[in-house]
Amino acid sequence: MEPDDVSGLPPGVSDKLRAEGVTELYPPQESAVNTGLTDGESLVASVPTASGKTLIAELAMLAAIERGETALYIVPLRALASEKRTEFERWEEFGVDIGVSTGNYDSSGEWLASRDIIVATSEKVDSLIRNDAPWIDQLGCVVSDEVHLVNDRTRGPTLEVTLGKLRQRNSDLQVVALSATIGNADAIANWLDASLVDTDWRPIELQMGVHYGNAITFNDDSQQPVPVESGERQTPALVADTLAGDDEDDQGSTLVFVNSRRNAESAAKRLCEVTAPVLTTEERASLAEIAASIRGVSDTETSETLATCVEEGAAFHHAGLAAEHRSLVEDAFRDRQLKCIAATPTLAAGVNTPSRRVIVRDWRRYDSEYGGMKPLDTLEVHQMMGRAGRPGLDPYGEAVLLAGDNDTRDELFDRYIDADLESVRSKLASEPALRTHVLATIATGFARSRTELLAFLKKTLYATQTDTNGRLKTVTDTVLEYLKRNEFITEDDETLSATGLGHTVSRLYLDPMSAATIIDGLQWAAKNETVQVNALSDRSTEHAADGFQPASEFAKSAGDTVHEDGDEPAVTYPTAFGLYQLVCRTPDMYELYLKSGDKERFSQVCYEREAELLERTPSEYDDVRFESWLSALKTGRLLEDWADEISEDQITERYDVGPGDIRGKVDTASWLLGAAEQLAGELGMKTKPIADARRRVEDGVKEELLDLVDVRGIGRKRARRLYDSGIEDSAALRTAEKGIVLRALRGRRKTAERILENAGRSDTSMDDIDEAPGDSINADADGGANANVAEATAETQQNRDVDDDSGNQAGLGDFS
Ligand code: ADP
Repeated sequence: MEPDDVSGLPPGVSDKLRAEGVTELYPPQESAVNTGLTDGESLVASVPTASGKTLIAELAMLAAIERGETALYIVPLRALASEKRTEFERWEEFGVDIGVSTGNYDSSGEWLASRDIIVATSEKVDSLIRNDAPWIDQLGCVVSDEVHLVNDRTRGPTLEVTLGKLRQRNSDLQVVALSATIGNADAIANWLDASLVDTDWRPIELQMGVHYGNAITFNDDSQQPVPVESGERQTPALVADTLAGDDEDDQGSTLVFVNSRRNAESAAKRLCEVTAPVLTTEERASLAEIAASIRGVSDTETSETLATCVEEGAAFHHAGLAAEHRSLVEDAFRDRQLKCIAATPTLAAGVNTPSRRVIVRDWRRYDSEYGGMKPLDTLEVHQMMGRAGRPGLDPYGEAVLLAGDNDTRDELFDRYIDADLESVRSKLASEPALRTHVLATIATGFARSRTELLAFLKKTLYATQTDTNGRLKTVTDTVLEYLKRNEFITEDDETLSATGLGHTVSRLYLDPMSAATIIDGLQWAAKNETVQVNALSDRSTEHAADGFQPASEFAKSAGDTVHEDGDEPAVTYPTAFGLYQLVCRTPDMYELYLKSGDKERFSQVCYEREAELLERTPSEYDDVRFESWLSALKTGRLLEDWADEISEDQITERYDVGPGDIRGKVDTASWLLGAAEQLAGELGMKTKPIADARRRVEDGVKEELLDLVDVRGIGRKRARRLYDSGIEDSAALRTAEKGIVLRALRGRRKTAERILENAGRSDTSMDDIDEAPGDSINADADGGANANVAEATAETQQNRDVDDDSGNQAGLGDFS
């Protein structure tokens, strides 16, 4: 079938496809069209990685737009949203408008209403439904990419419920679900009332094998010698072998999948020894340029290490990298400048970076529930292997696992090469998942009684996959009880409704348990402070006698400074650190992991700062609770360091995290603190201390810089330099001597002009202005890299309402 034969597309689309090299549809694409894809029929396409699923989605979306409908593309990872947007932008010449929505979980995204294609994560779509986004009803076509993730314990339930709600809102909705090849694609098709295209066809042959000893053994029993000298490692030998082709077309690139960020970095460093010698002079020159761009993204050690590797022709790729880093690496690899990438599996999840050979070096990863190194799922390994083979460039792709002995070779064949495909199973019946989704379903009016609720749940994948409804009912009842006890819902004469607080929690996209934790913490603070206030001063109240005050009175005291007998403030409740630790205790924050030695270190911090923590510290003998308390404390300390203007580089070192992690924690914390602010408001408590703590962590500054960072273009470093030059707020910027401004901004005239304009100054020209004499101020050893993560964060925060695709959800889809 040729593109011209596809009906329902906007005029000109088939010409464009042909110009791009799509002269024939791939067989799975043809089958999809034959099921009525461009006539609005629902479809599940279970097709191997890199076999043209994206075009299936595009054909469906373009046909929907031609019918006057809006299309929604649900991405599995926030980090993939901008990649997809870039891919779809080529349809703009047909008048197609694209909007990406990944940030702010509590906005209704009204601006998206005018877009033809909306790209969002399932969490974002879920929150838009909760906030009653008006355009939801205009949707004609929804694409769910990587729908097999319904199997995922943490993210699957949201995807499942979101698709359920979209279908309930519009019974004619076309759902196009794209899946990796799985064992039970028919179950998904059955759940979604969709046709099924289920195939293992690929555009380029994939040979899967295991390297052991001096050769790779492939699935067709053929062998390819790749000798490994004793003492030599397998990976570099295989990378060198891929590079050693006779002519240029035969010289291939390699993707190496490993199980942690640290391993990715150390493997890349070692692989430089193999890639560096084959680089041509031109390649070295262009890699040096890419390395310079990488250094320009941020001034951290990770950035420096990455740039150094890239200069030598190798790179690493993981979710701890800034998004800009990741795309620089992906582009350079696609352009064949980089010869090798050592990556965690984030790269396998949808980024189009095919390579001649894929090496799955680590097929196990540490799993705390499992209590050791757990073999990866077949599906995951197949997604990594599927990145092998560049159509049109390579004769075939090769995916290689590594074995150190005969038994392991046999095990790898059994597990990953000869294995049956895995089946996916709904994870909806878990309590945290239902807690969130039951509240939202009641708050948005999707269900008004227990019966309606169970009827809605009955249409989920979970219900279609289990014979007995028993478990779902039991968990649902436990959850309803929890929500009632926390006053998020009421049940009156069999009618379920959300309370004001419940509506707020649902709109804020909080796990109800996070909301309950935050509310408890804030009330605890208010109550304990009252006790102290009364003990320390003569401000006694009637209620103080029994140590209890109503919420309205907590409000008066919460946030006030408690004075001991003199003028010295003792403790200000709640403190920023107390609030940071509080939000880190909620299930909505991925806490930092406690490494060896951390327990002692953070126990010490805990005792020193206990007075600030907004709840009683659990007993040390209660291992599980105490350790989770300390993890939250560690994460809270990272946030405090950031808000105390500690440099990114020091933070990455102190906590052993990547710059992308800092951004991820900061984003989550500012969202949770924003939520805390609203909850406090709802309960009549003072919100200012929470707002200040939020603004400080958002911008990474001490309180004194808050006014300066409100000026667009001023991030934490510029603000500090201005402040230290005596320009302490935006008003001062309007009257300051320009030479001083210029010196504080390191002589960058354009930047200075822009900032003065943003501060509302009328005479902004820096022509003929000389930098004021004096020591150059170096508040932070940033080496002049102004386009760093900190400044980028500042810009992003200010652009929030428009778009936010620069953050990455740290840890998602990653091993470590
Ligand atoms: P998937 O989404 O299945 O992982 P992609 O959609 O990224 O795979 O497709 C992989 C590559 O194949 C892309 O570069 C795409 O442009 C190309 N491609 C898709 N369909 C065709 C086709 N019919 N003919 C030629 N190339 C195609």
